[in-house]
Amino acid sequence: MNEEQIIKRFRNLTVWKRGGERAPHKPLLSLYALGRLLQSKGRMISYEEIDRNLDMLLREFGPVRMNYRTEYPFWRLQNDNIWEVSGAEEIELNKSGDPKKSDLINCRVAGGFPKNLFNKLQADSKLVLKIVQELLDSNFPSSIHEDILQAVGIDIPSLGVTERRRHPEFRENILRAYEYRCAVCGFDVRLGIFPIALEAAHIKWYQAGGPDVEVNGLALCALHHKLFDRGAFTLSDNMKILVSAHANGTIGFQEWLMNFHGKKIAPPQRKSYYPDRKFVDWHVREVFRGEYREL
Ligand SMILES: [Zn+2]
Repeated sequence: MNEEQIIKRFRNLTVWKRGGERAPHKPLLSLYALGRLLQSKGRMISYEEIDRNLDMLLREFGPVRMNYRTEYPFWRLQNDNIWEVSGAEEIELNKSGDPKKSDLINCRVAGGFPKNLFNKLQADSKLVLKIVQELLDSNFPSSIHEDILQAVGIDIPSLGVTERRRHPEFRENILRAYEYRCAVCGFDVRLGIFPIALEAAHIKWYQAGGPDVEVNGLALCALHHKLFDRGAFTLSDNMKILVSAHANGTIGFQEWLMNFHGKKIAPPQRKSYYPDRKFVDWHVREVFRGEYREL
């Protein structure tokens, strides 16, 4: 297995469902295991540990779901040829070929990268970082890469500029459409003539197939971009800003979030640039941390 083949196996983990339904389970499990590897921890990880940590990662960075079923990625990652499981010989599988969570815990089942892959990765931290970047780029917008790295204990500077390099025209079109101001707070600080900390956000992430068009974008300051991509607020059908009931805080919360709750975004310069409802619906469904605050 050479470097390109290894990277390809991780790249192939990303399967977006129809309509862009997010499925970050396997990528987040891989990132967690890569984080442990970089911290020089042992190869096999108990399911109990994975369940605890992956559940937290999915709650933080996955779409809002009733239940996260960490046993699925833990078990199914074996089919991607980058994972093996030990201690599961006695376990019965259900019709779809998955084990019961309680069995995985009771039998102290563990999982990890197969030995030859683990050794290769351990000897080549550059390769690990390439894989990490690949997993981040294909599953999450760059505004939240750093948060994820921190959560899985990987200490590398985020390459947060990749999105900007990849979509230079999108950025320019969106900023122009919103007259170089944050659509939420109006932030428009410049250094000379160049706007600072003003970004073009995808409403439906490009990783989920969201297109680079005005009706799928918002000009947001760096702070509101991050809050939007983490799901701290979303938009209503009539373009009102709606804050999540899970968002809270003391300093900044009122000023930077609640003051805009229920207010309309600053409109783009043309009616035809208004966010398209189908992209906003995706954001509500896949990113927003459910339940609005009361208006
Ligand atoms: Zn702003």
